[in-house]
Amino acid sequence: MNTDIEVLIAGAGPTGLLLANELGLAGVRAAVVERLPQRTGQSKALNLQPRTAEVLDCRGWLEPVLDRSLALLPAGHFAGLPLDYSALDTTFPHQVGIPQARVEEFLEDHLAEYGVPVLRGRELTSFRQDEDGVTTTLLGPDGAECTVRAAYLVGADGGRSTVRRVLGMPFPGRDGRVGMAVADVELAAAQGESDGSGEPWRLPDLSPDPAGVAFLLPLGGGVHRLILGGPEQQGVDRDAPVTADEVRAALARCPGPPRELRAIRWASRFTDASRQAERYADGRVLLAGDAAHIHAPAGGQGLNLGMQDAFNLGWKLAAVTRGWAPDGLLATYHAERHPVGARVLANTRAQMVLTLPDPDAVAVRELLADLLTAPEANRRVAAMIAGTDIRYPMPGAPDHPLLGARAPGLRLPSGHGTLLADAASAVAAAAAGWAGRIVRPDRGPAADSGEALLVRPDGYVCWAGRDDDADGLRAALTRWFGAPRNPTVRSGGPSRAVDASG
Ligand SMILES: Cc1cc2nc3c(=O)[nH]c(=O)nc-3n(C[C@H](O)[C@H](O)[C@H](O)COP(=O)(O)OP(=O)(O)OC[C@H]3O[C@@H](n4cnc5c(N)ncnc54)[C@H](O)[C@@H]3O)c2cc1C
Repeated sequence: MNTDIEVLIAGAGPTGLLLANELGLAGVRAAVVERLPQRTGQSKALNLQPRTAEVLDCRGWLEPVLDRSLALLPAGHFAGLPLDYSALDTTFPHQVGIPQARVEEFLEDHLAEYGVPVLRGRELTSFRQDEDGVTTTLLGPDGAECTVRAAYLVGADGGRSTVRRVLGMPFPGRDGRVGMAVADVELAAAQGESDGSGEPWRLPDLSPDPAGVAFLLPLGGGVHRLILGGPEQQGVDRDAPVTADEVRAALARCPGPPRELRAIRWASRFTDASRQAERYADGRVLLAGDAAHIHAPAGGQGLNLGMQDAFNLGWKLAAVTRGWAPDGLLATYHAERHPVGARVLANTRAQMVLTLPDPDAVAVRELLADLLTAPEANRRVAAMIAGTDIRYPMPGAPDHPLLGARAPGLRLPSGHGTLLADAASAVAAAAAGWAGRIVRPDRGPAADSGEALLVRPDGYVCWAGRDDDADGLRAALTRWFGAPRNPTVRSGGPSRAVDASG
């Protein structure tokens, strides 16, 4: 039995892999177990929203991900209604067009830097937790079982999560009402026409149509992503193969030149089932990503939601395993992320209604389409889908515009908290006892502004105040970063800047 692992992650999807990177960055002994013996190269999701791009950027991981991308769109959509991302307050006002498999490939390759293993061909089948840890049972590629013990287990094992099932965690919500399918297809264009591979990416047309949804996105190399959802996809078993006839019928409905189906590389059915785990944590077991929530892929949010769960959870689990977490830190994972997930479930349900060919739904859609021509309305919905408007409840001045919001454009490559304050300020001196958990970069607010900000490792501002408010900062540091290492450094004590500037 291996007892050396601090955090075991079940599932090497985007959620599990980003979490593993966060833990690796913090020096946590983590491991990922993945049921599949190798990467499939298949992609459900095809995009990163601006907040996810910011998340990767603040660790310095965006550039290599962009190198693998296919398109950049200055827009998102709500049920196909365009949202202008150029109006967002972000350093990255784009949706990145990138197959999920390429994001996973980057994240898995990057884990080598930290020595965090991805143990493939190992399926987590059961576990039991006690006061000190979790003993998991894994089924290996040869059919042999083994047990692995870890201090914490994270279920990032997708919508049909074994971890969630073994926990017996309620997963309230509803089953799917609308059936759809996705197929990556090789196409031959009619004579004289291009196969469309070089076409720019467009937002999907989700206008209600009794014949159903059918749209194509070029993935390069003559391969296209086809999304189809019409009468023939309703009431079909989710595991039934997608047929060539279904694909041809949908292709015939796609706008543009007629295209001949050469081959289906991969196809799968999905629905608009909408469910959310009642709690994201139970003792030493946590749920993240699709294991914690499922919903329709409307607007392109699921992968993004999961990666942002991972980013919220990573530094908190690291703090717990490193031994400096304040009481209740881990509980803030559920408290902060459950409402964010609930909001995505609500907006995806609303989007699905707006795609129905029902005259009443069409009337609401027309009204919303009109409202979204107003810049402020468009910006608000855009910020929701982009994930840039998330504000976590934080104690402190509720009217401060940044408290609880993310600090855009801030690089946090070390994964530490960050104090933005003048080096000579009282708060910089007060932070000395938290060196090693927070850093103070040279460039912060203007030296003479008198303002200071404390930013968590996930980029959210957890304290905002005057740079002479040493007591206020100390309270915030203790709340988020635990007790100081040297509690003798108190107000009125020796003035020392935090020595871990970076
Ligand atoms: C058709 C479709 C289109 C989509 N498009 C988008 C989009 O454009 N944008 C977007 O943001 N989202 C989209 N999504 C949603 C997105 O794909 C998911 O939200 C995302 O994959 C969730 O990532 P995850 O890591 O939480 O789970 P998963 O990607 O499901 O990964 C879970 C991993 O766990 C493994 N696993 C499962 N059980 C076990 C076990 N017992 N032991 C070990 N390993 C296990 C699985 O093999 C898998 O590798 C789409 C979804 C669908 C169905």
